[in-house]
Amino acid sequence: MTEPIDADAGRAPGRPEPAHDPLGGSTGVPAGRGASDAPPLIELRGISKTYGSGAVAFQALKGISLTVRAGEFIAVMGPSGSGKSTAMNVLGCLDTPSGGEYLFRGVHVEQLDRDQRALLRRAHLGFVFQGFNLLARTSAQENVELPLLYRGEPAAARHAAAERTLAAVGLQGFGHHTPAELSGGQQQRVAIARALVSGPTVLLADEPTGNLDSARSHEIMQLLWHINHEQGLTVLMVTHEPDMAAYARRVVHFRDGRIERDELNPHPAALVAAAAAVAPVVGA
Ligand code: ADP
Repeated sequence: MTEPIDADAGRAPGRPEPAHDPLGGSTGVPAGRGASDAPPLIELRGISKTYGSGAVAFQALKGISLTVRAGEFIAVMGPSGSGKSTAMNVLGCLDTPSGGEYLFRGVHVEQLDRDQRALLRRAHLGFVFQGFNLLARTSAQENVELPLLYRGEPAAARHAAAERTLAAVGLQGFGHHTPAELSGGQQQRVAIARALVSGPTVLLADEPTGNLDSARSHEIMQLLWHINHEQGLTVLMVTHEPDMAAYARRVVHFRDGRIERDELNPHPAALVAAAAAVAPVVGA
C-alpha cells in the first residue's frame, strides 16, 4: 500500500490546512457499533482498477462492491496479488478507481478532485502501517502531534492531545522516547496514537502486526479491538494472519481482484479471551 504519510510530508509543518471538510460534516466518531441498520459509512459499488493500458493493462480490481457501516471492524484477507492493497488505496483516497462508485457518507469520492480527496483523508481517515512509519529522530510525542501540526493547531492543544492519546494506547510517560528507544510493539502504539489523535472516522490498517512477534501482535489487536469496541471507531484492516483476522467481526476475502467471501465472525477473539478470563469466576 502506498503510504499516505508521505503525501503530507512535503507540506510545510505549521501551515494550516483549510478547515474545510469536503463532506461538510463532523469528523467525530459516529455512534453505533456496526449495527446492521446503521446507515452505510462507506459504499463501494462495482469498483474496478486497471493498471497500465493496451497490451500491458492489468485489472487489479474487477468490480468490488462492499458496504461498511459505522462501527464495524472488518479484516480484509486474501492471497498476495489479490487486490487488497489496491482496494485499501482506493478506500484511503490515495488512488482513484478506473470505474465504479465510492461513496463516503453519501459523498461520491470518485468525483472529488485531488485536493478534496486529500482533505477527506486528513479529516476522516487514520492510517496504520506494517512498518510503523514514524519519523526516526523525532520523539513519540512529536510523531503523534504531527497530524495536528499539519492542521495548524496551537502548540498547547497539540501537546495535550498527544499526551492524552499516548496514554490511551498505554504509553503514558514514553512521550520523549524516539522510535529507536521503543520496542516494535511500542512503536506501533505510537503509530496508532498518531492515527487517532486527529479523531478520524475510519482507521485503515495495512498488516499492522506484520512486523511483530506473536505476543506483541495480540497486544496490538487487543488495542485495536478496544478502540473499535469502546469508542465505536470503524476499523478496516488488511492481514494475512487468521489469528489476527479473528479479532474482527467481519472478514472479507479477496481473490483475483474480486471479493470471494464476506462472512461475519460471531465470536471475535477478544470476546472469547474475555469470556475465558471470567469463566472461572462464573463457575466458582
Ligand atoms: P495484494 O495487496 O492483495 O497483494 P495488490 O493490490 O498489491 O494485491 O496488487 C494486485 C495486483 O495488481 C497484483 O498483480 C499487482 O502486481 C498489480 N499491481 C499493483 N500495483 C500496481 C501498479 N502500480 N502497476 C501495475 N500493477 C500493479
